[in-house]
Amino acid sequence: MRTHQDWAKEAAQLTFRTRAFVGGRYGEAGDASFENRNPATGALLSEVVDAGKAGVDQAVAAARATFESGLWSRASASFRKERMLRLADLIAENAAELALLDSLDMGKRVVDAHELDVPFSVSLFRYYAEAIDKINDEVAPTPPGTLGLIRRVPLGVVGAVIPWNYPVDMLAWKAAPAMAVGNSVVLKPAEQSPSSALRIAELAAEAGIPDGVLNVVPGLGDSTGKALGLHPDVDVLAFTGSTEVGAYFLQYAGQSNLKQVWLECGGKSPHVVFADAENLATTAKQTAFGIWFNQGAVCSAHSRVLVQREVHEEFVSLVAAEAAAYAPGDPLDPASGMGAIVSPEQTDRIMQFVDAAGSSGARLVTGGERVRLDGSDCYVQPTVFDDVDPASELAREEVFGPVLAVTAFNTEDEAVALANDTSYGLAASVATSNLSRAHRLAERIHAGTVTVNGVDAFSAGTPFGGFKGSGFGRDLSLHALDKYVGLKTVWINH
Ligand code: NDP
Repeated sequence: MRTHQDWAKEAAQLTFRTRAFVGGRYGEAGDASFENRNPATGALLSEVVDAGKAGVDQAVAAARATFESGLWSRASASFRKERMLRLADLIAENAAELALLDSLDMGKRVVDAHELDVPFSVSLFRYYAEAIDKINDEVAPTPPGTLGLIRRVPLGVVGAVIPWNYPVDMLAWKAAPAMAVGNSVVLKPAEQSPSSALRIAELAAEAGIPDGVLNVVPGLGDSTGKALGLHPDVDVLAFTGSTEVGAYFLQYAGQSNLKQVWLECGGKSPHVVFADAENLATTAKQTAFGIWFNQGAVCSAHSRVLVQREVHEEFVSLVAAEAAAYAPGDPLDPASGMGAIVSPEQTDRIMQFVDAAGSSGARLVTGGERVRLDGSDCYVQPTVFDDVDPASELAREEVFGPVLAVTAFNTEDEAVALANDTSYGLAASVATSNLSRAHRLAERIHAGTVTVNGVDAFSAGTPFGGFKGSGFGRDLSLHALDKYVGLKTVWINH
């Protein structure tokens, strides 16, 4: 088990990749650059290229050339499988480095990146690699003398634009299924967290994945991200991030080539706690994890608690007592409860929500303060507001920070109405020991995932994605492959 000192020592020796990785090597593309700073200290980590339109053009051309060559798109299943498994092994072998890159780039606790994020990305590359030689195409029941084949074919060049909250994982969520079925990928990481994606692209080359299959173009959203969204030779665009930017990608597709667009756009997920919950103390721990893990920067963060009035006061006290375990601290220190917020701008944004909640009549139970540590003020205390008006900003908007909104309810119908009173529909959790109620709630809450007696469950093998403003299309599971293939019908008359 590495100590704080071990992590700090390794961090001091890190190398940060700063240039676009295109066609199997770091290139020169991009005529602008941006600063990559560690939010935990404010220190400058690297000056990173903004690939821009020219860089995206190069990357898409490299991806297209590889796709047309058939080196990957028409390679045998065993070839693709072996190389993706090798990439998974290389990610695992370099887990500490990748975890540190994410932690320094965007402020998360390095132990979480090391013990959860990187292993999950490894498991996804393995999951999709193993799927490659186990999925058969179909033969349709066509008339005698004919053969109707239904083939699943790769679509070509997949653009992926991902956020900063889970850099290593978001890459795997998009790139692993897209690559497994034979596409070439051009991925833009978030400007706050470019480093691990650039390193993984290099590992893909080391794994023997042909040049041009996985290209990474660092850059800013409105230059590099927009260029990818508008590119006429990108066939599919897979995005995770805010609803606002997700909507841009739909416009980009309409303004360019009608590329397919898949959006995972966050949420305002409710945790509905009934008085008949089996164990309120355990449920409170789940609530705390659901909002304070990863500084609350989780698209499916359970940022709303709806709690039945009989246990309301007791439950709020139990949750508030959990806050001590999430005290912010140095992300490299395993003893810290939370890490740093990704940037000064995001910290400002979170504090605006806190200030507005205070003046909207919500009752601050715990937290609510910005914290200065190690010369940086990108830290926020784990925060709980009670008596939150369901119509208020705090109850409706995605804060993407460690701020929980609690609202009491009386009846099951009222709980369902409150849970569904949102423009989002990504996830929801329910605490109850009543089996019928669990089934009723799972049916009536309009969310892509409903977890009963737990919080925010997901796995490699289960689909993840939302309804309404949370977007459409599913990541994870074999269903994610559907986003990256087209159905081709082949008739053979004999
Ligand atoms: P964004 O939605 O702005 O960013 C997500 C990705 O889209 C990044 O790679 C970003 O690039 C890119 N992007 C931004 N603007 C454009 C554009 N005009 N055209 C093309 N690509 C673009 O999220 P932010 O990081 O700005 O966070 C803002 C809020 O969004 C958060 O507070 C949270 O509410 C929500 N969010 C939700 C996430 C989720 O997982 N569902 C993840 C991240 C944010 P760049 O970083 O370079 O700007």
